[in-house]
Amino acid sequence: MRVLLLYPKFPKSFWSFEKALELVDRKAMLPPLGLATVAAILPQTWQYKLVDHNTRAITEAEWDWADLVILSAMIVQKEDFLAQIQEAKRRGKLVAVGGPYATALPHEAETSGADFLILDEGEITLPMFVEAVERGDRAGVFRANGEKPDVTTTPIPRFELLDFDAYDSLSVQFSRGCPFQCEFCDIIVLYGRKPRTKSPEQILAELERLYELGWRRSIFMVDDNFIGNKRNVKLMLKALKVWMAEHNYPFRFNTEASIDLASDQEMMDLMVECNFNAVFLGIETPDEASLALTQKFQNTRDSMSESVDTIVRSGLRVMAGFIIGFDGEKPGAGDRIVRFVEKTTIPTAMFSMLQALPDTALLHRLKKEGRLLEQDSGMNQTTLMNFIPTRPLEDIAHEYVEAFWTLYDPASYLDRTYRHFLKLGAPKCPSRVREVSWVNIRALLTLCWRQGVVRKTRVQFWLNLLGILRHNPKVWEPYLGVCALGEHFLEYRQIVKEQIEAQLQVYLEAEALHRTRSLDAA
Ligand code: SF4
Repeated sequence: MRVLLLYPKFPKSFWSFEKALELVDRKAMLPPLGLATVAAILPQTWQYKLVDHNTRAITEAEWDWADLVILSAMIVQKEDFLAQIQEAKRRGKLVAVGGPYATALPHEAETSGADFLILDEGEITLPMFVEAVERGDRAGVFRANGEKPDVTTTPIPRFELLDFDAYDSLSVQFSRGCPFQCEFCDIIVLYGRKPRTKSPEQILAELERLYELGWRRSIFMVDDNFIGNKRNVKLMLKALKVWMAEHNYPFRFNTEASIDLASDQEMMDLMVECNFNAVFLGIETPDEASLALTQKFQNTRDSMSESVDTIVRSGLRVMAGFIIGFDGEKPGAGDRIVRFVEKTTIPTAMFSMLQALPDTALLHRLKKEGRLLEQDSGMNQTTLMNFIPTRPLEDIAHEYVEAFWTLYDPASYLDRTYRHFLKLGAPKCPSRVREVSWVNIRALLTLCWRQGVVRKTRVQFWLNLLGILRHNPKVWEPYLGVCALGEHFLEYRQIVKEQIEAQLQVYLEAEALHRTRSLDAA
């Protein structure tokens, strides 16, 4: 069986960073780790090619070669996911789909034209699919029915199928699931509340494989919550610390974690000693009432600004996610988020309007309350809320656009980044990850031209850079890397503004029409 693994395109998003990637000649931030893992679980007697549509087009020869096309996608990739299924069917291929989108919205995947739906976690459903194909079935739906696989049996992903040059960072996964119960979260719906971890030996074998294949840059640990199972993570980090020293620190790591990381100094020290550079925290909002209402209790136990400060001073750069539009939210939430981000100096603050994602506790509650709006399921930072909030939607949308605009004002962004890197202190780990190449020199010159000559904030850019070279010189490289992301945010805030305002206009017109009709009927 010849299998073409196909990863659909993402739309432009907060994380797509096209401008920054262009600077360093990369095509995408992260590779499709899920499809590389699928290739490792399926029979090794089958043949595989992997095409990430975010990095290049599929060739005619690849289409002709394939007997079977397998696609995996998240909800935001829906448009290209559906288009590629159509294309594969037009060419007479057998098509199988899986991943978070198909699992969360199987009724949409069922009407996509795909022959097989391989839902839930592949360790359980891929073998069912193989059995069906081997007995000659031409269609089927495979579900795990609530069962969660033991990830200690997951094989090493087929990393060699990936085009390393196309990516800024590679990824590995140590655990799945999260012990918390945030009402809006779909992670716990898809992967459960009992974090399941791989063994330290397993993760080291994956890293060894990447090392053998020549990778020497960043690796994102794409866990839902890296510290979900603290005991197992510490065991793994202790083994990783030794491995990293023995291999002369070939990688730097980034990950996502809950904010209670701040209360575990041993964990933070271990992460820093293993060359973890940055951590993404789901902060959501500084409003305690909203956090309690959305059942994000772990964010209410300690002062969040002190927690962020502790994490940064321990040597981990913080990125964070924020949401506006919680029930009972008081006016001015956008401003409060901006003030929090400024105070805590978080450069990369992902910000969106609250969405009720498929099958979440939030969605079920809103459905019961009759507050869901008919809306497309492709959700990201440029999508209006898909339910009726407790204060006027137009107020939330205006606050959101204004706060996004303010956060990514070039001067504020440079200032936050500067203060963050001063607070971070010098790296405590002897990082050997360095690439002196023409591409990097060109990227440096382009950045200095754009931000140090063309932009109005040029004086601030040079003064801050001199400040970094004087007070914390060892971080100049990642500091400039984060400054470079500002290129993307400047463009993206305009997209957010235009798209949210356009959707709001449509919403308000529909509301006005609805009111007129109701009055006429009365
Ligand atoms: S902490 Fe993050 S991953 Fe865990 S339930 Fe809350 S939102 Fe989901």
